[in-house]
Amino acid sequence: MQSSNKIEHNKIEYKAYTVLEAYNIQNPVVDVAKIAKGEGIEIKEIEMPTGYDNVAGFYDKPNKVIYIEKSDSPQRKLFSIAHELGHVFLNHQNPTVLFRITREDGNYQEQESEANSFAIHLLVPGFMLQDYMRKYNLSKSDYKVLANIFGVPISAMENTLAYLK
Ligand SMILES: [Zn+2]
Repeated sequence: MQSSNKIEHNKIEYKAYTVLEAYNIQNPVVDVAKIAKGEGIEIKEIEMPTGYDNVAGFYDKPNKVIYIEKSDSPQRKLFSIAHELGHVFLNHQNPTVLFRITREDGNYQEQESEANSFAIHLLVPGFMLQDYMRKYNLSKSDYKVLANIFGVPISAMENTLAYLK
């Protein structure tokens, strides 16, 4: 993946693969609950408080709890959990909350982009994606089918396929 920013995608990709290997996860949908449990992290689904409607998730580091929005789709929840796990595995110190819509302004922290990158590499690892595309004879135009197989939001799958060589 080529990128103009400073984020070390290769390093993040490697980290995500290490986690998949450690938990012996070889097939989609990637079992993020198993990973969280193995790390001693609890996942709680809540209704975000008033004024935080735009927040999809956050990580309570001292108590090791990932909070996600209860009313989100399963695909969105999966991504939110993977994003928060990104903060955990990338050893981020003070992650901010996960906003529903990625903010492109300067305030959107590098850590957030790194956690998003980790989430994608964890949920749609390149090797697994190519495996399933071969297995079911799918192409990039089958992004909706692939999003369904991997249990991720369609937009996330479209972005991933855009970078696929
Ligand atoms: Zn975050």
